Amino acid sequence: MKTLVFIESKNKISKSALETVYYASEIGETTVITYGNSDNSTLNMLGEYGASKVLIQKTENQLEDTQLTKLITSAADQTNADVIVISQDQVGKAIAPRVAAKLEAGHVSGAVSLPDTSNGFTVESNVFSGKAKANISVNSSKKVISLLPNSFSPKKKGGDISIEELNLDLGETAIKIIEKKSQGEGVPLPEAELVVSAGRGLKGPDNWGIVEDLAVALGATTACSRPVSDIGWRPHHEHVGQTGIAIRPNLYIAIGISGAIQHLAGVNGSKVIVVINTDSEAPFFKAADYGVIGDAFEVLPKLTEAVKKYMASNN
Ligand SMILES: Cc1cc2nc3c(=O)[nH]c(=O)nc-3n(C[C@H](O)[C@H](O)[C@H](O)COP(=O)(O)OP(=O)(O)OC[C@H]3O[C@@H](n4cnc5c(N)ncnc54)[C@H](O)[C@@H]3O)c2cc1C
Repeated sequence: MKTLVFIESKNKISKSALETVYYASEIGETTVITYGNSDNSTLNMLGEYGASKVLIQKTENQLEDTQLTKLITSAADQTNADVIVISQDQVGKAIAPRVAAKLEAGHVSGAVSLPDTSNGFTVESNVFSGKAKANISVNSSKKVISLLPNSFSPKKKGGDISIEELNLDLGETAIKIIEKKSQGEGVPLPEAELVVSAGRGLKGPDNWGIVEDLAVALGATTACSRPVSDIGWRPHHEHVGQTGIAIRPNLYIAIGISGAIQHLAGVNGSKVIVVINTDSEAPFFKAADYGVIGDAFEVLPKLTEAVKKYMASNN
C-alpha cells in the first residue's frame, strides 16, 4: 500500500510529525507532503523514521485550510496514495475531513491503532471524547486516517529519502494575518509529554508560581481548567478539555481541579494521571493513577523540592 503523510515542518520536525511518518511507514511505502522553508538536512530526519520520499512546497507563507487541502490532494494524486495520514492536531482536525471529501475517501478520525487488513481495512479509534473505542471499517479505495497524537512511539528505522520541491498553484489566500502573538517558549501543549495543570483550587492568578515551579523542575508544560482561562487567570491556549485542547501526555498532574466530565474529556488519554486535591470525594480521583489528598499550597512546594533532588541525583 502507498501512504502519504502531511506534516508541518517549519525548520524543525515535531514529535507528532515523526509519529505520523512512523505510523504510515508501518502501513506501506511512505511519501511525506509538507510546506515551508525547511532545509534538506532537517527533512532527511524523516527518512530515519520510515519515509522514502519528501515533497515540499517551498513558501514563506502560512497556508490556510483550503490551500493545504489542495496541496495534499495534489500530492495524493501525484503519488497515487491509497492511505493519507494526518495528525489529529488543530490543523489536522480542520483539513482531514476536507481532504477525505475531495478524494471521496472514507475517514477514520482519532485513530489509535494500525489498520487490520486481515479482512478489509479496520482501524480502532477513540470516540465520545475517549470514553469508548470503535472499530471503523473503510471500504473506499482511498482512505484518510487522522492519527491521535501520542498513540505511537516513533522508532528509528533508518533509510534514505529523496526530496522533491513542488511549485503548485494553491490559489490566493482569503485570510490576512494582521498580528502574530507567540505562545511563549517551551513545548506546546499538544506535543507535551509532561503536563502540570491547575484549576480553581489555586484561588487566584497570583498563586501560579508554585505550579510553574513544579513544571520547570519537571520540564513540563502548564495547562489549566476552563474556568481558570475564562476568568483570565491563565491564557486561553492553556485550557484543556472538551472545549479546549485534547491532550495525551505521558504524565498529567491535575492540581485543584475537580475532574468534571468536560475536563476529563480532554485529558483522559494521558498515560499516567496524578491528582492533588483537598476533597477526597473529588471525581478526578476516580480517573487517577496516583492521588494526593492534600492542600496544593502545602503539597506543591514539597513535591517540587523532591523532584529537584531526584533530578540532581540522577544527573
Ligand atoms: C459545555 C461545557 C463545556 C465545558 N468544557 C470544559 C473544558 O473544556 N475544560 C474544563 O476544564 N472545563 C470545562 N467545562 C467546565 C466544567 O464543567 C467544570 O466546571 C470545570 O472543569 C471546573 O473547573 P475546576 O475543576 O478548575 O474548578 P472547580 O470545579 O471549582 O474545582 C476546584 C477543585 O479544587 C479543589 N481545591 C480547592 N482548594 C484546593 C487546594 N487548596 N488544594 C487542592 N485542591 C483544592 C476543590 O476540592 C475542587 O475539587 C465545561 C462546561 C460545560 C457546560
